[in-house]
Amino acid sequence: MSGREGVILWLRRDLRLSDHPALCAACAGGGPVIPVFILDPKERGLGGAAPRWRLSRSLAALSRDLEQAGSRLILRQGEALATLEDLLAETGARKVVWSRLYDPESIERDTRVKAALRTADIEAESFGGHLLYEPFAPKTNLKEQLSTDGFDVASFNASLLFEPWTVQTKDGSPYKVYSPFWRAVSALDPVPESLPRPGRVPAPSDWPRSLRLEDLGLERAMNRGAAIVARHARIGEAAAQETLDAFVDGPIACYADRRDRPDLPGTSGLSAHLAVGEISPRTIWRAAEAAAAVDPKAEKGAEVFRKEIVWREFAWHLLYHTPHIAERNWRPEWDGFPWREDNEDAERWRRGRTGEPFVDAAMRELYVTGVMHNRARMLTASYLTKHLMTDWRVGEAWFRDCLVDWDPASNAMGWQWTAGSGPDAAPYFRIYNPQTQAEKFDPAGDYVARWLPEVSRRDLAREPHPDGLSFFEACPRRWGLSPDDAYPAPVVSLTAGRARALDAYTVLKNTEDSKELTS
Ligand code: FAD
Repeated sequence: MSGREGVILWLRRDLRLSDHPALCAACAGGGPVIPVFILDPKERGLGGAAPRWRLSRSLAALSRDLEQAGSRLILRQGEALATLEDLLAETGARKVVWSRLYDPESIERDTRVKAALRTADIEAESFGGHLLYEPFAPKTNLKEQLSTDGFDVASFNASLLFEPWTVQTKDGSPYKVYSPFWRAVSALDPVPESLPRPGRVPAPSDWPRSLRLEDLGLERAMNRGAAIVARHARIGEAAAQETLDAFVDGPIACYADRRDRPDLPGTSGLSAHLAVGEISPRTIWRAAEAAAAVDPKAEKGAEVFRKEIVWREFAWHLLYHTPHIAERNWRPEWDGFPWREDNEDAERWRRGRTGEPFVDAAMRELYVTGVMHNRARMLTASYLTKHLMTDWRVGEAWFRDCLVDWDPASNAMGWQWTAGSGPDAAPYFRIYNPQTQAEKFDPAGDYVARWLPEVSRRDLAREPHPDGLSFFEACPRRWGLSPDDAYPAPVVSLTAGRARALDAYTVLKNTEDSKELTS
């Protein structure tokens, strides 16, 4: 089967046309390509309100891009296999292609779908590939190769640079610590150049029916002022490429020094694009390398930046090899830790009313923009799990609902890493102090002033920033918050909160030590 009868391109978290192995393979068959997105209401991997809203906007952008390429995006709702079978019957297509996903739920479903399709004599092929199997010589002329019939794009990766099973320790086991993982991937073959975007996507003579985007209801749960979050969102493949270009043209040179400063625009802002696959990590990687090659001043920043991209890889590596990271303590010995379940202090944390300005500013940034600076993510996660001794799953769930860049692997790893229950943990006694963190990473108080009108008026003698005020438009009326409210006293004194956490860690550690002694 060559795909001349038609190929269904099943799109999931690869919502772009450039550097898309499955799309290239579908086009290479010569027959019509039917791009489809299937919403399975039972699928948990879509996250909460904000990521679903973001996904919906991304589908709208992709649909426009496909139309410009002479194609369409078909939207369907239902169980994946049954929906694909319907589409195959309706269109006469004999092949289905897709980009691999690496979370346990998707792996289970995709394996089942592939087996069922093959049993029904339908060709089913997933793309991911990696650098170790059939690597491309970096100097290969891809455009020429793509025009050759039968070109094999299987060694190109769609959503990760390195498929999780390709990076292994010497004894063949997965990495559990980031630094050796980074060293291992640095020693691999160079990352090849991105695949070109097909000029036209061959269309069928008759299109199967499609739902309207509104019918999927992906924006329904976003009742916190989607219009406000939308002001801060950049959506679609073109926006992703522009964001990357702007970053490698300038800020990348200062990335190493500025990436920890939430008061400065020092990071790439690419995470939401990566989360839905509007851009591939390989395109980003290659652009960072190119920036360093033309400007030696960008070398250090580009290297630190690539290390961050590899943190994302590491998170997926962990989720693939230890899927329980998404739901249970990665280190089982933490199961005995006396986390508090959801509680009133955690609710104050969610609402940005803990009385710790740096923490509250970050929580408001999250609510209004759908993203939060990495330093602030670490701080707010540390504050919730340590000063407020609240289970990391409470915070993970709130981020899952609020982040437009929600990524199941990075979110789970970020929470467990900070809480201490995860891989590569910061020593359990490292408890970030919000006040000293603010002195270091927001020295002039600009970040706090931007997000906390109550504090900017009172302590910083500044006019409230419109972004800080828009939090009060966005938040639910039942929260009863106003920018004229007095700023609250701290939920817990930093000294008492720290002491309580340290006591609990000492008990946990002693219990583990005594278990070791008696075993
Ligand atoms: P840049 O600094 O420009 O970095 C470039 C890219 O590298 C990012 O887009 C991201 O893909 C990757 N990256 C950077 N830092 C990390 C990191 N620590 N871990 C994994 N990948 C990283 N990132 C998400 O994409 N989705 C999440 O749901 C998410 N949840 C997090 C939760 C917690 C508690 C913590 C501590 C971190 C979380 N991160 C998450 C990681 C990180 O905060 C964001 O990737 C980063 O802030 C995105 O901004 P940027 O694109 O400007 O990053």
